[in-house]
Amino acid sequence: MSEDMTQVSDHIADHCVINPATEEVVAAVPSVGRAETDAAIDRAATASAAWRDVTPADRGMLLRRFAGIVDDHIAELAALEVANAGHTIGNARWEAGNVRDVLNFYSAAPERLHGTQIPVAGGLDVTFKEPLGVVGVIVPWNFPMPIAGWGFAPALAAGNTVVLKPAELTPLTAIRLGELALEAGIPEGVFTVLPGKGSVVGARFVEHPAVRKVCFTGSTAVGQSIMRQAADTLTRVTLELGGKSANIVFADADVAAAAASAPMSFLDNAGQDCCARSRILVQRSVFDKFMEHFEAAVQAVVVGDPAAERTQMGPLISAGQRAAVRGFVEDAEGDVDVAFRAPAPSDRGFFYPPTVVLPRGTSDRVWQEEVFGPVVAVMPFDDEADAVTKANDTAYGLSGSIWTRDVGRAIRVARGVEAGNLSVNSHSSVRYSTPFGGFKASGIGRELGPDALDAFTEVKNVFIDTTA
Ligand code: NAD
Repeated sequence: MSEDMTQVSDHIADHCVINPATEEVVAAVPSVGRAETDAAIDRAATASAAWRDVTPADRGMLLRRFAGIVDDHIAELAALEVANAGHTIGNARWEAGNVRDVLNFYSAAPERLHGTQIPVAGGLDVTFKEPLGVVGVIVPWNFPMPIAGWGFAPALAAGNTVVLKPAELTPLTAIRLGELALEAGIPEGVFTVLPGKGSVVGARFVEHPAVRKVCFTGSTAVGQSIMRQAADTLTRVTLELGGKSANIVFADADVAAAAASAPMSFLDNAGQDCCARSRILVQRSVFDKFMEHFEAAVQAVVVGDPAAERTQMGPLISAGQRAAVRGFVEDAEGDVDVAFRAPAPSDRGFFYPPTVVLPRGTSDRVWQEEVFGPVVAVMPFDDEADAVTKANDTAYGLSGSIWTRDVGRAIRVARGVEAGNLSVNSHSSVRYSTPFGGFKASGIGRELGPDALDAFTEVKNVFIDTTA
Protein backbone atom coordinates (compact mmCIF):
# COMPACT_ATOMS: atom_id res chain seq x y z
CA MET A 1 0.00 0.00 0.00
CA SER A 2 1.34 3.41 -0.88
CA GLU A 3 1.97 6.08 1.72
CA ASP A 4 -0.57 8.31 -0.10
CA MET A 5 -3.34 5.77 0.27
CA THR A 6 -2.64 5.56 3.99
CA GLN A 7 -2.89 9.29 4.28
CA VAL A 8 -6.21 9.75 2.57
CA SER A 9 -8.09 6.68 3.73
CA ASP A 10 -8.89 5.06 7.03
CA HIS A 11 -7.39 1.85 5.77
CA ILE A 12 -5.55 -0.14 8.42
CA ALA A 13 -2.36 -1.94 7.40
CA ASP A 14 -0.45 -4.29 9.66
CA HIS A 15 3.09 -3.44 10.63
CA CYS A 16 5.28 -6.39 11.67
CA VAL A 17 7.34 -5.99 14.82
CA ILE A 18 10.65 -7.86 14.54
CA ASN A 19 12.71 -9.02 17.53
CA PRO A 20 16.10 -7.41 16.74
CA ALA A 21 18.04 -10.20 18.47
CA THR A 22 16.38 -13.12 16.66
CA GLU A 23 15.08 -11.43 13.47
CA GLU A 24 11.75 -13.21 14.10
CA VAL A 25 8.35 -11.52 13.71
CA VAL A 26 6.85 -11.16 17.20
CA ALA A 27 3.61 -9.32 16.38
CA ALA A 28 1.61 -7.64 13.66
CA VAL A 29 0.26 -4.27 14.76
CA PRO A 30 -2.36 -2.23 12.89
CA SER A 31 -1.15 1.06 11.49
CA VAL A 32 -3.70 3.74 12.23
CA GLY A 33 -4.90 5.92 9.34
CA ARG A 34 -5.76 9.59 9.20
CA ALA A 35 -9.52 9.27 9.83
CA GLU A 36 -8.89 7.12 12.90
CA THR A 37 -6.31 9.59 14.16
CA ASP A 38 -8.83 12.40 13.80
CA ALA A 39 -11.49 10.37 15.60
CA ALA A 40 -9.08 9.67 18.48
CA ILE A 41 -8.12 13.35 18.72
CA ASP A 42 -11.84 14.29 18.77
CA ARG A 43 -12.44 11.78 21.59
CA ALA A 44 -9.47 13.20 23.48
CA ALA A 45 -10.84 16.73 23.02
CA THR A 46 -14.23 15.66 24.34
CA ALA A 47 -12.66 13.79 27.27
CA SER A 48 -10.55 16.79 28.20
CA ALA A 49 -13.56 18.78 29.46
CA ALA A 50 -14.29 16.14 32.11
CA TRP A 51 -10.64 15.26 32.89
CA ARG A 52 -9.69 18.83 33.74
CA ASP A 53 -12.58 18.92 36.22
CA VAL A 54 -11.62 15.70 38.02
CA THR A 55 -10.61 16.91 41.49
CA PRO A 56 -6.85 17.28 41.95
CA ALA A 57 -6.90 14.61 44.67
CA ASP A 58 -8.70 12.13 42.40
CA ARG A 59 -6.44 12.87 39.42
CA GLY A 60 -3.41 12.26 41.61
CA MET A 61 -4.95 9.07 42.98
CA LEU A 62 -5.60 7.75 39.43
CA LEU A 63 -1.99 8.43 38.44
CA ARG A 64 -0.75 6.65 41.59
CA ARG A 65 -3.02 3.71 40.74
CA PHE A 66 -1.62 3.67 37.19
CA ALA A 67 1.90 3.65 38.70
CA GLY A 68 0.92 0.74 40.95
CA ILE A 69 -0.42 -1.29 38.04
CA VAL A 70 2.76 -0.60 36.03
CA ASP A 71 4.72 -1.81 39.08
CA ASP A 72 2.69 -5.04 39.12
CA HIS A 73 3.62 -5.58 35.45
CA ILE A 74 7.34 -4.71 35.48
CA ALA A 75 8.42 -8.24 34.58
CA GLU A 76 5.87 -8.50 31.76
CA LEU A 77 6.69 -5.05 30.33
CA ALA A 78 10.44 -5.75 30.53
CA ALA A 79 10.13 -9.07 28.69
CA LEU A 80 7.98 -7.36 26.06
CA GLU A 81 10.60 -4.62 25.60
CA VAL A 82 13.33 -7.22 25.05
CA ALA A 83 11.31 -8.58 22.09
CA ASN A 84 10.02 -5.17 20.95
CA ALA A 85 13.29 -3.20 20.99
CA GLY A 86 16.13 -5.64 21.75
CA HIS A 87 16.85 -3.97 25.09
CA THR A 88 18.80 -5.95 27.65
CA ILE A 89 16.50 -7.38 30.30
CA GLY A 90 18.22 -5.35 33.05
CA ASN A 91 17.73 -2.08 31.16
CA ALA A 92 14.15 -2.97 30.25
CA ARG A 93 13.28 -3.57 33.91
CA TRP A 94 14.78 -0.18 34.79
CA GLU A 95 12.79 1.47 31.98
CA ALA A 96 9.44 0.01 33.12
CA GLY A 97 10.36 1.08 36.67
CA ASN A 98 11.10 4.56 35.35
CA VAL A 99 7.53 4.84 33.98
CA ARG A 100 6.22 3.87 37.43
CA ASP A 101 8.52 6.40 39.14
CA VAL A 102 7.61 9.22 36.75
CA LEU A 103 3.88 8.54 37.28
CA ASN A 104 4.38 8.52 41.06
CA PHE A 105 6.42 11.74 40.91
CA TYR A 106 3.76 13.60 38.91
CA SER A 107 0.87 12.08 40.88
CA ALA A 108 1.67 14.66 43.57
CA ALA A 109 1.39 17.51 41.06
CA PRO A 110 -2.38 17.99 40.67
CA GLU A 111 -2.70 19.11 44.29
CA ARG A 112 0.40 21.34 44.14
CA LEU A 113 0.00 23.00 40.75
CA HIS A 114 -1.29 26.49 41.45
CA GLY A 115 -1.09 30.05 40.26
CA THR A 116 -0.13 33.16 42.21
CA GLN A 117 -1.59 36.32 43.65
CA ILE A 118 0.15 39.49 42.47
CA PRO A 119 0.03 42.87 44.26
CA VAL A 120 -1.49 45.49 41.94
CA ALA A 121 -3.23 48.84 42.41
CA GLY A 122 -7.01 48.91 42.65
CA GLY A 123 -7.75 45.25 42.93
CA LEU A 124 -6.80 41.65 43.30
CA ASP A 125 -4.76 39.96 40.59
CA VAL A 126 -4.52 36.20 40.44
CA THR A 127 -3.13 33.69 37.98
CA PHE A 128 -4.43 30.22 37.18
CA LYS A 129 -2.44 27.41 35.60
CA GLU A 130 -4.82 25.74 33.19
CA PRO A 131 -4.44 22.61 31.08
CA LEU A 132 -3.81 23.10 27.36
CA GLY A 133 -6.34 20.49 26.18
CA VAL A 134 -5.09 17.66 23.96
CA VAL A 135 -1.34 16.94 23.97
CA GLY A 136 0.28 14.81 21.25
CA VAL A 137 3.31 12.78 22.33
CA ILE A 138 5.55 11.40 19.55
CA VAL A 139 8.10 8.80 20.66
CA PRO A 140 11.21 7.32 18.96
CA TRP A 141 12.17 3.64 18.93
CA ASN A 142 15.24 3.83 21.14
CA PHE A 143 13.54 4.17 24.56
CA PRO A 144 9.87 3.40 23.90
CA MET A 145 8.69 3.28 27.54
CA PRO A 146 10.51 6.05 29.45
CA ILE A 147 10.19 8.69 26.73
CA ALA A 148 6.45 7.97 26.48
CA GLY A 149 6.15 8.38 30.27
CA TRP A 150 8.11 11.65 30.33
CA GLY A 151 5.42 13.07 28.03
CA PHE A 152 2.18 11.50 29.19
CA ALA A 153 2.70 11.57 33.00
CA PRO A 154 3.16 15.36 33.45
CA ALA A 155 0.63 16.09 30.68
CA LEU A 156 -2.07 14.03 32.41
CA ALA A 157 -1.13 15.39 35.85
CA ALA A 158 -1.63 18.95 34.58
CA GLY A 159 -5.15 18.04 33.40
CA ASN A 160 -4.52 17.45 29.69
CA THR A 161 -5.62 14.46 27.66
CA VAL A 162 -2.97 12.65 25.63
CA VAL A 163 -2.71 10.97 22.24
CA LEU A 164 0.55 9.05 21.98
CA LYS A 165 2.27 7.77 18.86
CA PRO A 166 4.95 5.14 19.41
CA ALA A 167 7.61 4.53 16.77
CA GLU A 168 6.57 2.10 14.04
CA LEU A 169 9.39 -0.30 14.91
CA THR A 170 8.51 -0.52 18.63
CA PRO A 171 4.79 -0.09 19.37
CA LEU A 172 4.21 -3.04 21.75
CA THR A 173 5.07 -1.64 25.18
CA ALA A 174 3.26 1.64 24.54
CA ILE A 175 0.12 -0.28 23.54
CA ARG A 176 0.38 -2.29 26.77
CA LEU A 177 0.81 0.90 28.81
CA GLY A 178 -2.42 2.19 27.20
CA GLU A 179 -4.24 -0.95 28.36
CA LEU A 180 -2.81 -0.63 31.88
CA ALA A 181 -4.00 3.00 32.06
CA LEU A 182 -7.57 1.82 31.40
CA GLU A 183 -7.17 -0.90 34.03
CA ALA A 184 -6.08 1.79 36.48
CA GLY A 185 -9.35 3.66 35.88
CA ILE A 186 -8.01 6.46 33.66
CA PRO A 187 -11.20 7.29 31.69
CA GLU A 188 -11.57 6.35 28.00
CA GLY A 189 -10.24 9.06 25.69
CA VAL A 190 -7.90 10.54 28.31
CA PHE A 191 -4.88 8.51 27.21
CA THR A 192 -4.94 6.93 23.74
CA VAL A 193 -2.10 5.08 22.03
CA LEU A 194 -2.12 5.31 18.22
CA PRO A 195 0.46 3.13 16.47
CA GLY A 196 1.16 4.25 12.92
CA LYS A 197 3.38 6.15 10.55
CA GLY A 198 5.04 9.41 11.49
CA SER A 199 3.94 10.96 8.21
CA VAL A 200 0.29 10.04 8.95
CA VAL A 201 -0.41 9.94 12.70
CA GLY A 202 2.47 12.15 13.91
CA ALA A 203 2.01 14.73 11.17
CA ARG A 204 -1.73 14.88 11.94
CA PHE A 205 -0.98 15.67 15.61
CA VAL A 206 0.94 18.73 14.44
CA GLU A 207 -1.69 20.06 12.05
CA HIS A 208 -4.91 19.17 13.93
CA PRO A 209 -6.33 22.33 15.57
CA ALA A 210 -7.51 20.45 18.68
CA VAL A 211 -3.96 19.32 19.52
CA ARG A 212 -2.56 22.23 21.48
CA LYS A 213 0.92 20.89 22.10
CA VAL A 214 3.24 18.30 20.59
CA CYS A 215 6.04 16.71 22.62
CA PHE A 216 8.39 15.25 20.05
CA THR A 217 11.44 13.11 20.75
CA GLY A 218 13.43 11.92 17.77
CA SER A 219 15.85 13.04 15.12
CA THR A 220 16.82 16.66 14.61
CA ALA A 221 15.64 16.58 10.97
CA VAL A 222 12.09 15.45 11.86
CA GLY A 223 12.04 17.87 14.82
CA GLN A 224 12.84 20.74 12.45
CA SER A 225 10.03 19.73 10.09
CA ILE A 226 7.59 19.50 13.01
CA MET A 227 8.55 22.98 14.16
CA ARG A 228 8.00 24.33 10.64
CA GLN A 229 4.56 22.68 10.43
CA ALA A 230 3.63 23.81 13.93
CA ALA A 231 4.04 27.43 12.83
CA ASP A 232 0.85 27.15 10.75
CA THR A 233 -1.32 26.15 13.71
CA LEU A 234 0.80 27.81 16.42
CA THR A 235 0.96 24.42 18.12
CA ARG A 236 3.29 24.50 21.13
CA VAL A 237 6.26 22.16 20.82
CA THR A 238 8.84 20.56 23.04
CA LEU A 239 11.64 19.01 21.01
CA GLU A 240 14.09 16.43 22.40
CA LEU A 241 16.49 15.70 19.55
CA GLY A 242 19.87 14.19 18.76
CA GLY A 243 23.16 14.35 20.63
CA LYS A 244 26.93 13.99 20.28
CA SER A 245 27.95 14.22 23.90
CA ALA A 246 31.51 14.59 25.20
CA ASN A 247 33.12 12.59 27.99
CA ILE A 248 36.02 14.76 29.21
CA VAL A 249 38.77 13.09 31.25
CA PHE A 250 41.32 15.35 32.99
CA ALA A 251 44.74 14.13 34.09
CA ASP A 252 43.85 14.76 37.75
CA ALA A 253 40.86 12.37 37.58
CA ASP A 254 40.67 8.80 38.77
CA VAL A 255 41.61 7.71 35.23
CA ALA A 256 40.89 4.03 35.89
CA ALA A 257 37.38 4.88 37.12
CA ALA A 258 36.75 7.11 34.09
CA ALA A 259 37.95 4.35 31.75
CA ALA A 260 35.78 1.77 33.54
CA SER A 261 32.68 3.98 33.18
CA ALA A 262 33.30 5.01 29.56
CA PRO A 263 32.27 1.75 27.79
CA MET A 264 28.67 1.71 29.00
CA SER A 265 28.44 5.48 28.52
CA PHE A 266 28.51 4.84 24.75
CA LEU A 267 27.43 1.16 24.54
CA ASP A 268 24.24 1.36 26.59
CA ASN A 269 21.33 0.41 24.32
CA ALA A 270 23.98 -0.45 21.69
CA GLY A 271 24.80 3.25 21.39
CA GLN A 272 21.24 4.13 20.32
CA ASP A 273 21.01 6.66 23.09
CA CYS A 274 20.63 10.39 22.58
CA CYS A 275 22.80 10.90 25.69
CA ALA A 276 25.55 8.50 24.56
CA ARG A 277 28.99 9.88 25.34
CA SER A 278 30.05 9.17 21.79
CA ARG A 279 33.09 11.49 21.93
CA ILE A 280 35.81 10.99 24.53
CA LEU A 281 38.33 13.77 25.22
CA VAL A 282 41.35 12.72 27.25
CA GLN A 283 44.06 15.06 28.55
CA ARG A 284 47.19 14.31 26.54
CA SER A 285 49.42 13.38 29.53
CA VAL A 286 47.11 10.44 30.49
CA PHE A 287 45.90 9.49 27.00
CA ASP A 288 47.87 6.21 26.75
CA LYS A 289 47.04 5.19 30.33
CA PHE A 290 43.33 5.86 29.68
CA MET A 291 43.32 3.91 26.41
CA GLU A 292 44.94 0.89 28.05
CA HIS A 293 42.25 0.68 30.78
CA PHE A 294 39.49 1.62 28.32
CA GLU A 295 40.34 -1.10 25.80
CA ALA A 296 40.33 -3.76 28.54
CA ALA A 297 36.95 -2.49 29.78
CA VAL A 298 35.37 -2.42 26.30
CA GLN A 299 36.62 -5.93 25.52
CA ALA A 300 35.03 -7.15 28.79
CA VAL A 301 31.53 -5.88 27.89
CA VAL A 302 29.14 -8.81 27.42
CA VAL A 303 27.46 -8.45 24.00
CA GLY A 304 24.76 -10.92 23.02
CA ASP A 305 21.30 -12.24 23.86
CA PRO A 306 19.45 -9.31 25.48
CA ALA A 307 17.19 -11.72 27.40
CA ALA A 308 20.19 -13.13 29.33
CA GLU A 309 20.72 -11.44 32.71
CA ARG A 310 24.48 -10.94 32.25
CA THR A 311 24.24 -9.26 28.84
CA GLN A 312 25.27 -5.60 28.82
CA MET A 313 24.80 -4.78 25.13
CA GLY A 314 22.21 -6.17 22.73
CA PRO A 315 21.53 -5.66 19.03
CA LEU A 316 20.73 -2.55 17.04
CA ILE A 317 17.05 -1.96 16.36
CA SER A 318 16.94 -3.10 12.72
CA ALA A 319 18.89 -4.30 9.70
CA GLY A 320 18.55 -0.76 8.31
CA GLN A 321 20.09 0.81 11.42
CA ARG A 322 22.97 -1.68 11.33
CA ALA A 323 23.57 -0.92 7.64
CA ALA A 324 23.58 2.80 8.43
CA VAL A 325 26.12 2.38 11.25
CA ARG A 326 28.30 0.07 9.15
CA GLY A 327 28.18 2.49 6.21
CA PHE A 328 29.09 5.40 8.47
CA VAL A 329 32.16 3.60 9.83
CA GLU A 330 33.23 2.34 6.39
CA ASP A 331 32.97 5.86 4.96
CA ALA A 332 34.96 7.23 7.88
CA GLU A 333 37.70 4.61 7.69
CA GLY A 334 39.73 6.56 5.11
CA ASP A 335 39.93 9.54 7.49
CA VAL A 336 40.08 7.96 10.93
CA ASP A 337 42.05 5.13 12.48
CA VAL A 338 40.05 2.33 14.04
CA ALA A 339 41.78 1.87 17.41
CA PHE A 340 40.05 -1.45 18.14
CA ARG A 341 36.80 -3.40 17.93
CA ALA A 342 35.21 -5.83 20.39
CA PRO A 343 33.49 -9.07 19.40
CA ALA A 344 29.73 -9.26 18.73
CA PRO A 345 27.49 -12.14 17.58
CA SER A 346 27.32 -12.47 13.80
CA ASP A 347 25.08 -15.51 13.18
CA ARG A 348 21.72 -13.80 13.72
CA GLY A 349 20.35 -10.56 15.12
CA PHE A 350 21.22 -6.99 14.17
CA PHE A 351 24.46 -6.84 16.19
CA TYR A 352 27.35 -4.49 15.47
CA PRO A 353 30.72 -4.72 17.25
CA PRO A 354 31.71 -2.00 19.73
CA THR A 355 34.09 0.18 17.72
CA VAL A 356 36.59 2.78 18.92
CA VAL A 357 38.00 5.26 16.40
CA LEU A 358 40.64 7.99 16.52
CA PRO A 359 39.59 10.95 14.35
CA ARG A 360 42.26 13.23 12.86
CA GLY A 361 40.43 16.44 13.68
CA THR A 362 37.17 17.89 15.01
CA SER A 363 35.82 18.40 11.47
CA ASP A 364 35.67 14.62 10.85
CA ARG A 365 32.10 13.37 10.39
CA VAL A 366 32.54 10.87 13.21
CA TRP A 367 33.27 13.79 15.59
CA GLN A 368 30.38 15.89 14.30
CA GLU A 369 27.48 13.57 13.45
CA GLU A 370 25.33 11.28 15.54
CA VAL A 371 26.10 7.66 14.55
CA PHE A 372 23.45 6.13 16.84
CA GLY A 373 25.37 2.87 17.18
CA PRO A 374 28.17 1.42 19.37
CA VAL A 375 30.86 3.69 17.95
CA VAL A 376 32.97 6.17 19.92
CA ALA A 377 35.60 8.69 18.81
CA VAL A 378 38.52 9.43 21.16
CA MET A 379 40.75 12.51 20.93
CA PRO A 380 43.41 14.11 23.16
CA PHE A 381 43.23 17.67 24.49
CA ASP A 382 45.81 19.99 26.08
CA ASP A 383 44.15 22.12 28.75
CA GLU A 384 40.76 23.22 30.09
CA ALA A 385 40.17 25.77 27.34
CA ASP A 386 41.03 23.22 24.63
CA ALA A 387 38.69 20.65 26.21
CA VAL A 388 35.75 23.07 26.29
CA THR A 389 36.40 24.27 22.71
CA LYS A 390 36.54 20.70 21.37
CA ALA A 391 33.48 19.62 23.42
CA ASN A 392 31.47 22.53 22.00
CA ASP A 393 32.63 22.01 18.42
CA THR A 394 29.44 20.25 17.31
CA ALA A 395 25.91 21.32 16.46
CA TYR A 396 24.50 19.32 19.39
CA GLY A 397 24.34 20.03 23.12
CA LEU A 398 22.49 17.36 25.06
CA SER A 399 24.72 15.71 27.69
CA GLY A 400 28.28 15.18 28.77
CA SER A 401 30.60 14.06 31.56
CA ILE A 402 33.56 15.69 33.27
CA TRP A 403 36.10 13.56 35.14
CA THR A 404 38.31 15.50 37.57
CA ARG A 405 39.12 15.63 41.30
CA ASP A 406 39.25 19.44 41.21
CA VAL A 407 35.84 20.89 42.17
CA GLY A 408 36.65 24.32 40.79
CA ARG A 409 37.62 22.82 37.43
CA ALA A 410 34.47 20.68 37.38
CA ILE A 411 32.33 23.77 37.83
CA ARG A 412 34.31 25.93 35.36
CA VAL A 413 34.10 23.25 32.66
CA ALA A 414 30.43 22.51 33.38
CA ARG A 415 29.71 26.23 32.95
CA GLY A 416 31.68 26.26 29.68
CA VAL A 417 30.18 23.22 27.98
CA GLU A 418 27.02 24.01 25.99
CA ALA A 419 24.80 21.09 27.00
CA GLY A 420 21.63 20.59 29.02
CA ASN A 421 22.71 17.66 31.20
CA LEU A 422 26.19 17.24 32.57
CA SER A 423 27.53 14.85 35.18
CA VAL A 424 30.79 14.99 37.12
CA ASN A 425 32.66 11.73 37.76
CA SER A 426 29.64 9.82 36.45
CA HIS A 427 27.86 9.11 33.19
CA SER A 428 24.38 9.40 34.67
CA SER A 429 22.00 11.40 32.48
CA VAL A 430 18.44 11.11 33.66
CA ARG A 431 16.69 11.50 37.01
CA TYR A 432 12.89 11.90 36.94
CA SER A 433 12.98 14.76 39.46
CA THR A 434 15.50 16.94 37.55
CA PRO A 435 15.16 18.78 34.22
CA PHE A 436 16.25 17.07 31.01
CA GLY A 437 16.73 18.61 27.57
CA GLY A 438 19.14 20.03 25.07
CA PHE A 439 21.02 23.14 23.98
CA LYS A 440 21.51 24.03 20.29
CA ALA A 441 20.40 21.31 17.81
CA SER A 442 19.58 18.93 20.67
CA GLY A 443 16.21 20.50 21.24
CA ILE A 444 13.92 23.11 22.70
CA GLY A 445 12.36 22.92 26.16
CA ARG A 446 12.85 20.63 29.14
CA GLU A 447 11.18 17.44 30.31
CA LEU A 448 11.04 15.89 33.78
CA GLY A 449 11.35 17.63 37.13
CA PRO A 450 8.69 19.92 38.58
CA ASP A 451 9.23 22.68 35.97
CA ALA A 452 8.11 20.42 33.11
CA LEU A 453 4.54 20.96 34.30
CA ASP A 454 4.72 24.57 33.10
CA ALA A 455 5.12 23.26 29.55
CA PHE A 456 1.70 21.58 29.87
CA THR A 457 -0.23 24.58 31.18
CA GLU A 458 -1.33 28.02 30.04
CA VAL A 459 -1.16 30.85 32.56
CA LYS A 460 -4.38 32.84 32.84
CA ASN A 461 -4.32 36.20 34.58
CA VAL A 462 -7.49 37.56 36.22
CA PHE A 463 -7.86 41.09 37.66
CA ILE A 464 -10.73 41.77 40.08
CA ASP A 465 -11.52 45.43 40.62
CA THR A 466 -12.00 46.04 44.35
CA THR A 467 -12.58 49.80 44.18
CA ALA A 468 -16.31 49.68 43.44
P1 NAD B 1 12.68 9.86 14.03
O1 NAD B 1 12.80 11.33 14.08
O2 NAD B 1 12.84 9.18 12.75
O3 NAD B 1 11.23 9.41 14.58
C1 NAD B 1 10.77 9.77 15.85
C2 NAD B 1 9.25 9.68 15.88
O4 NAD B 1 8.72 10.68 15.00
C3 NAD B 1 8.69 8.35 15.39
O5 NAD B 1 7.55 8.00 16.16
C4 NAD B 1 8.30 8.66 13.95
O6 NAD B 1 7.28 7.82 13.45
C5 NAD B 1 7.79 10.09 14.10
N1 NAD B 1 7.79 10.88 12.85
C6 NAD B 1 8.54 10.67 11.73
N2 NAD B 1 8.23 11.59 10.79
C7 NAD B 1 7.29 12.40 11.32
C8 NAD B 1 6.58 13.55 10.84
N3 NAD B 1 6.78 14.05 9.64
N4 NAD B 1 5.70 14.14 11.68
C9 NAD B 1 5.50 13.67 12.92
N5 NAD B 1 6.12 12.58 13.43
C10 NAD B 1 7.01 11.95 12.64
O7 NAD B 1 13.68 9.34 15.16
P2 NAD B 1 14.06 7.83 15.51
O8 NAD B 1 14.92 7.32 14.41
O9 NAD B 1 12.81 7.08 15.89
O10 NAD B 1 14.90 8.04 16.85
C11 NAD B 1 16.24 8.31 16.87
C12 NAD B 1 16.52 9.78 17.10
O11 NAD B 1 15.87 10.22 18.30
C13 NAD B 1 17.98 10.08 17.34
O12 NAD B 1 18.38 11.22 16.62
C14 NAD B 1 18.07 10.34 18.83
O13 NAD B 1 19.15 11.11 19.25
C15 NAD B 1 16.77 10.99 19.10
N6 NAD B 1 16.42 10.89 20.51
C16 NAD B 1 16.47 12.01 21.31
C17 NAD B 1 16.19 11.93 22.67
C18 NAD B 1 16.22 13.15 23.57
O14 NAD B 1 15.61 13.11 24.62
N7 NAD B 1 16.90 14.21 23.19
C19 NAD B 1 15.83 10.72 23.22
C20 NAD B 1 15.81 9.60 22.40
C21 NAD B 1 16.08 9.71 21.04
